[in-house]
Amino acid sequence: MIPYVEDRRNIAVVRWAETLADTERYSLMFALERGIEATFQLEDSELTSEQLPDDDEQGRFLLVEAAEGGAGVLRRLHSEDDALARVATEALGIMHVDPDTGQDEPDACVWGCYRCLLTYGNQSHHEQIDRRQATSTLMRLARSRTVPDPTGEGDDPQEPGDPGGPEHPGAPTPPERQLTGRAAELVELLALRGLHRPTRADVQVEGVTVDLAFDNAHAVVLFEDGHSRDVTPWCSVDGTWCAWVPPTPWRRR
Ligand SMILES: [Zn+2]
Repeated sequence: MIPYVEDRRNIAVVRWAETLADTERYSLMFALERGIEATFQLEDSELTSEQLPDDDEQGRFLLVEAAEGGAGVLRRLHSEDDALARVATEALGIMHVDPDTGQDEPDACVWGCYRCLLTYGNQSHHEQIDRRQATSTLMRLARSRTVPDPTGEGDDPQEPGDPGGPEHPGAPTPPERQLTGRAAELVELLALRGLHRPTRADVQVEGVTVDLAFDNAHAVVLFEDGHSRDVTPWCSVDGTWCAWVPPTPWRRR
């Protein structure tokens, strides 16, 4: 007979967009853990973190709410658009960094101390902790907003009972999951800037096949793809604005 127990815990898997050195990924992981604990008033024992294997060295790590059921703070990291920014701001303060200037406070330690990132629990990683390696990324996060991934990549299947669905009930469901290439890039950019996203994709409007349609704004977007279409740049046809996008890539800020 093999006895076993089952439980359910809230977890979050975090992965950075860039490759990171060892000290950077450990420092950022412990800084975010401390920042989450401070922001949401958790005890150190209520949240744990550990590095996960990552073939691309992008510092994938796991956050686990220790108590079964948990306080639900990890969900807030992605459901509230400023939660991660508040966590990063707290983490900077804990690491003796002024979140407004990025400068060290006068009583700052050098690479880490028991007031900031070192704990008895992470003793085996003290050599990989250097708070200075985490500062610039946390400064960027402190000025960030969290938006849903418009491509839908990495979405978990919804749990039964999860309310899910569009953030604004009644709003049209954007067709973003089918988008690829420049249309997907544009929609991602709109989401990042907090702008309106299209309501339909690859549809006929006034007899013309358009790539994206913004029904509420009576606007459409066409990407030049070598096929000739009977549309001129920034025209208005029967009250519908048409943006004709040439194949020049736009730059992100
Ligand atoms: Zn310190």
